[in-house]
Amino acid sequence: MTLRSITHTKMSRRHFLKGVGATTGYMFLPLDFGRFSVAPQKATPIAIPPSLMLHSPDGRADFLPYLLEQLQADGFTAVTYQSWYQSVLEGQVPAKPIILSIDDISLARSACAAFTTFVQMKEWIKAAGMTAVYGVITEPVIGEQPQREQDETRWDLMQAWVEEGFELASHTSYHSNFNAVDTGPRPDFTAADYEAEIVRSTHLMETTLSERGLFYTVQTLILPYGSGYAYQRPEPQIHPGIAAACRHTKIKFVVGIAHGRVPQPLTTFINPNELVYVGRIPPAYLTDPNGQQIPDAGQTAAWLRTWHNNNQNEG
Ligand SMILES: [Zn+2]
Repeated sequence: MTLRSITHTKMSRRHFLKGVGATTGYMFLPLDFGRFSVAPQKATPIAIPPSLMLHSPDGRADFLPYLLEQLQADGFTAVTYQSWYQSVLEGQVPAKPIILSIDDISLARSACAAFTTFVQMKEWIKAAGMTAVYGVITEPVIGEQPQREQDETRWDLMQAWVEEGFELASHTSYHSNFNAVDTGPRPDFTAADYEAEIVRSTHLMETTLSERGLFYTVQTLILPYGSGYAYQRPEPQIHPGIAAACRHTKIKFVVGIAHGRVPQPLTTFINPNELVYVGRIPPAYLTDPNGQQIPDAGQTAAWLRTWHNNNQNEG
């Protein structure tokens, strides 16, 4: 997409700014590179923000609002991968950034029984003055059938969320597990399979939003089950087939669970050909007297503080 293609389309100013904002990481890279090439902090590694992985069962009134309150009391600033990336390129990263991501939302017509829970979670986050990243499964498989038909009303809502600063990440088309037992690539997955999971999903999201006049670029892939990153191998890496498919999109961040928490060189962010692999932690779960696992706000916040403190030690 070029600036020309944006300006020649009927859009509100807000749409225009959003469209530009979502893509500036790529549009202005040469300028940013020039700036950083003389900046004194060039050699300083960039700390990966503490990042929490949530699912719809974590959308509990006795957990999420308390967690958000705690994170605010701790002085965290909620960012998205996109907004944080932009702040890295501009050399203006918030002092205590944190990324909340919520997996498994779908806008397919016949899927996502937990949709109202996802909406409730978003409203709590918004009310706290924070933001989050939603991992979208574009064509979830139910009874071996991919649910392709999209719910246009839900997509209208997604447009509004993006305009409010929430990020939509691809969580693939079908939510397949990419891993063999050693966390390496599955032997039965072909390039066409990776294209179907990643490129197709990204394209559907961008196309559906562009039909609404919102020129949005998907920059983040959230890996299903944290698979797709061979963390148990001697040289951990994103599966090559996944990386190749990502290079057919504008994806910059590949989000898993294991690893991905140590600082990365600034050049990794600046180089448009490099993917950034980042990990997350799940909430802390405690077992209640009935034997049920319930998320605990205090312990989860403590884990996120530890991650932030480790950043300070490493930075
Ligand atoms: Zn998932």
